[in-house]
Amino acid sequence: MQDWSMRISHVIDHAAREAPNREIVTRWADGSETRTDWAGVHRDAKKMSQALLALGLKKGDKVASLAMNHARHLVSWFGVAGMGGVLHTCNPRLFEDQLEYIVNHAEDRVMLYDAAFQPIVDRMRDKWPTVKHYICFDSGEHAPAFEDWIGAQDGDFEWVGGDERDPCMICYTSGTTGNPKGVQYEHRSTILHAVSGLQPSTFNFSSSSVMLPVVPMFHAASWGLPYAGAMAGIKFVFAAVNDPAVLHELMLKEGVTDSAGVPTVWLAHFQYCDREGIDLPPLRAATIGGSAAPRFMIERLMKNGTRVQHAWGMTETSPIGTVGGPTHEWDQLSFEEKVTKTMKQGRPIFGVELRIVDLDDPTKVLPRDGETSGALQIRGPWVVKRYFKAEHDAVTEDGWFDTGDVGIIHPDGTLQLTDRTKDVIKSGGEWISSVELENAAVGHPAVAEAACVGMPHPKWDERPVLFVVRKEGTDCSSEEITEFLTDKVAKWWLPDAVEFVDDIPHTATGKISKKDLRERFADYTLG
Ligand code: ADP
Repeated sequence: MQDWSMRISHVIDHAAREAPNREIVTRWADGSETRTDWAGVHRDAKKMSQALLALGLKKGDKVASLAMNHARHLVSWFGVAGMGGVLHTCNPRLFEDQLEYIVNHAEDRVMLYDAAFQPIVDRMRDKWPTVKHYICFDSGEHAPAFEDWIGAQDGDFEWVGGDERDPCMICYTSGTTGNPKGVQYEHRSTILHAVSGLQPSTFNFSSSSVMLPVVPMFHAASWGLPYAGAMAGIKFVFAAVNDPAVLHELMLKEGVTDSAGVPTVWLAHFQYCDREGIDLPPLRAATIGGSAAPRFMIERLMKNGTRVQHAWGMTETSPIGTVGGPTHEWDQLSFEEKVTKTMKQGRPIFGVELRIVDLDDPTKVLPRDGETSGALQIRGPWVVKRYFKAEHDAVTEDGWFDTGDVGIIHPDGTLQLTDRTKDVIKSGGEWISSVELENAAVGHPAVAEAACVGMPHPKWDERPVLFVVRKEGTDCSSEEITEFLTDKVAKWWLPDAVEFVDDIPHTATGKISKKDLRERFADYTLG
């Protein structure tokens, strides 16, 4: 067979050749809208590669972005890789000491940023000594504007070639414990991940797909969507603001068929539709990942005629590990059964393998019996082997990466996440899933958000305590919540206390931060 180094440049060449006029629409933060297409992204990516080389960058150099979703950010996904560089998508919601750490650790040379993040750039500039060039994706009052910067090039450029195992992107974990850790993706791993991503059992992309990814492009390589979308020549609709009214309008106006985001995005969309008294947009498919979607969310989207699927993964897995598309017996299932199945995290996509091991003895591999839960491990070509600049591999001797998640694997391969290793509650030698308690609690009409943590207990080691934020204008007692939970979880799982709080702390990616919650209630006592 012929040589064909798996480089990202093939992806954009293919999109520009086979789907040149398929549109890429952007709604900018100022409300304006621009339209380009795959031929335009290809042309601009070539100019961008030239512009980076003109700045003196070399193969392997890192280029950071601090930006929302838009066509210029998409261009960077190809333009940086096209000159052999490594794109470092930074999460603007990280704490500033984390932003300082990751940019210095990656040794980023260029910072591409949205004007909306100018205040962050101004505060961080002196703390980022490796960054020599700032380019603003918007009009650029304080730095060259992206369009002018690439506009100075002619686009007559041969992509920089190289080994398919060269790095092309780096993402950092949000570092809920210790410093964030860098995961460097290779051209090869990225292409393999994207090929699996466009399959019917994953994102089900074809040239008729119109995807509005709500998941920000700075989050875990945005689930591989930009590259998978380019491979299938789909139409992309980007919104540089995360406002449900804007998303809704774009979905209707641009004929959006598919979307992807974390559960809070859908929650905000529901609230918007309820306020306005309007229907949800007629989406073909909605992928939910990042944290578990509650039952009512899945039900409502499914009743809307939308195929709902959980995607599970993490920065360390590029990120897709499992996806919950319909299984072979789908048509025979009742609506309730379909919802129950969709609440699980789905099945591994081709390329990755999963197993669960004993929480106390990781050498003991546990059965896939749909009952036993254990520490979830994964391996495959787009799973991290060693963190960036780390001295040791992050995998077991036989190549498995420990995810830090706890789950059950069902006989048909479906993964059901039950907790994270550090959050699972050990009561009298038995495990209680904090996540299941939370999911059950948010089903109560007065509960806006719930977080469950194990608190030290003199007799049982740990017992669950449920922290609840009540919905505005509602009232309910802790007894009512406990009563509500009685037929939903085992009796011995019922929380020892339900505490009402005004807010629950979140991480930069919008997940509940149990670490902060535990710190806030460090003096809490039970018993
Ligand atoms: P961080 O660890 O930086 O918050 P990641 O995006 O890497 O960011 O988070 C990965 C974690 O998110 C997983 O290990 C898992 O605990 C959780 N997660 C991801 N997808 C799902 C899902 N579909 N259902 C439940 N939890 C999920």
